[in-house]
Amino acid sequence: MMLVHTERFAEHQTPPGHPERPERAEVMDAVAARWKSRGVEVVPPSAATREQLLRVHDGDYLRRISETTGRAVKLDPDTYTSPESYEIALLAAGAAVQAVDQALSGQQRSALALVRPPGHHAERDRAMGFCLFNSVAVAAAHARANGAAKVAIVDYDVHHGNGTQHIFESDPHVLYVSVHQDPYYPGTGAVDEVGKGRGAGFTVNVPLEVGAVDEDYRTVFSTVVVPVLRQFEPDLVLLSAGFDAHERDPLAGMRVTTPSFAAMTAELRQVADECCRGRLAALTEGGYDLEALAASLDGAIGALNDPHAGPRWPSSGIESTRGRAAVDAARAAHRVFWHL
Ligand SMILES: [Zn+2]
Repeated sequence: MMLVHTERFAEHQTPPGHPERPERAEVMDAVAARWKSRGVEVVPPSAATREQLLRVHDGDYLRRISETTGRAVKLDPDTYTSPESYEIALLAAGAAVQAVDQALSGQQRSALALVRPPGHHAERDRAMGFCLFNSVAVAAAHARANGAAKVAIVDYDVHHGNGTQHIFESDPHVLYVSVHQDPYYPGTGAVDEVGKGRGAGFTVNVPLEVGAVDEDYRTVFSTVVVPVLRQFEPDLVLLSAGFDAHERDPLAGMRVTTPSFAAMTAELRQVADECCRGRLAALTEGGYDLEALAASLDGAIGALNDPHAGPRWPSSGIESTRGRAAVDAARAAHRVFWHL
């Protein structure tokens, strides 16, 4: 596997006390250095091009964000720019594109882009939830434009990726599967949001009640996420890797432990091995406890780097009541689309 990493993301600053704080960049720097010392290739990204961004964002929106260059601007109640943010967000989207190129090239079949700011809340024409450009959406559109007929996006960030869903909800070629805390920010991602028009069935939301544990995620992955992916048979798997479902995370209320992030990633790697010769490109989204972020990122990278590692789920000893309820609801909503 390969890591796409730039130290420049440190310069995307947010106000003191903001969860998307610069120290997250130091954690990613340390993780990249550690894997580099173990022989993993680490490359810097180039900025996403206007053409790549225009596949998922409005031209007028790109202009508005570009005008924040050199300025600190409050774009929405949670989302700020610093003078460098525009440039850094271009690098984040570019890193996701580069991870896709690596995965599709066949040389390195999996790649992870260490990026900030995150992207999955960014809408076609609106910054939201710390996100400026929807990097995973840019990556999916880039893959589609470069020969991938079907792209699956899996999002295990604890928040629903409203932007990603909305950008692809009418597109049957891009599957979006999200497991997230509900009710919670941003308020979208209900189980009956299944896609629109020709895209019906290709949005799969699995909302989970607050307090979900390792067993709940295991249940959801084995019963919904993996079976849907196998039936969809993607040419590329993309992963929005957020680590804020971790029990230590200060924002959300889930109780997931570190080994589950490796297990979820390993599940997706196995599906990619089965469906598309291991083509998997991941990028970071949220994750606001620095210790949990470092350990969970290590686990996810380890799962991508070891071709023989199967998923090793931890056990909390707590029964999967939330997971089973979520699976029942997803089965009912998707009865006509998938065999679950
Ligand atoms: Zn998040």
